[in-house]
Amino acid sequence: MKISIASGKGGTGKTTLATNLAYLISQTCPVVLTDLDVEEPNSKFFIKGNKISEKKVFKMIPEWDKDKCILCGNCQKVCQFNAVIKLWEEVLIFDKLCHSCYACSELCPKNALPMKSYDVGKITQFEYHDIHFVEGKLNVGEEQAVPLIAQTIDYVHKKFPHDMLLIFDSPPGTSCPVIEATKDADYIILVTEPTPFGLHDLTLAVEVMRELKKDFGIVINRYGIGNDDVITYCKNERIPLLGTIPNMKAAAEAYAKGELLSTAIPEIKTALNKIIQNLKVCEVL
Ligand code: SF4
Ligand code: SF4
Repeated sequence: MKISIASGKGGTGKTTLATNLAYLISQTCPVVLTDLDVEEPNSKFFIKGNKISEKKVFKMIPEWDKDKCILCGNCQKVCQFNAVIKLWEEVLIFDKLCHSCYACSELCPKNALPMKSYDVGKITQFEYHDIHFVEGKLNVGEEQAVPLIAQTIDYVHKKFPHDMLLIFDSPPGTSCPVIEATKDADYIILVTEPTPFGLHDLTLAVEVMRELKKDFGIVINRYGIGNDDVITYCKNERIPLLGTIPNMKAAAEAYAKGELLSTAIPEIKTALNKIIQNLKVCEVL
């Protein structure tokens, strides 16, 4: 079973929910928590486990061989991402724009663009109590999250048995990275806040999930700071409201100290256990 935790925007409490659900559920069944928010992975501030392994992740980009090149300009024409440009007597490769599609390399008439590996980030595995924790992290300055997300998911699938519960902490938003992180999940939990901004971004995330034909439910974090429009929206749209996590000053303090809210604050532990119960009712767990 694969559950992805996503949100229409950052800062809604996605990581809080992912780490705490993983911690509570791990007390009764084996869990793999995976941080796929590879540009800014935060789960490890709360899941401080022992490092088990680390591996670099590479992508393939073309390298220009000027001795073979006849400056025909074919490579520039075939690249849909403007990652290769012929400028006077030079061919420039913009590695951060390259999507590793191999088109320029394969269509170069002189084999002047062999593909070379290029280090984009790393995948690290930790163990914390009964949680297996895997983190994907892009190198500073790298912009393409999707290949690393795909490789991190692949790592988890190869490393752990298929019957384990996998919880993916997805990147925020509604663009390619979140689609990559959720497209193979069995169930998605969308986290939001009870504010007009929260509702606006939630509706966009719901559209994406419907487009992907995914089963999903909603958790409202910081419940109490705004209004009940998100609850009304869930009722009108017939979307399961899995639960609410109360807004508490103590939660902000625990979060700032890197503490798991489920261990620091009993009221929040109760709220999280209700969410777990509702996931069971939805036959997700
Ligand atoms: S397609 Fe090959 S030969 Fe033509 S400009 Fe590009 S690198 Fe040079
Ligand atoms: S591999 Fe694809 S994306 Fe990268 S430079 Fe070549 S054509 Fe462009």
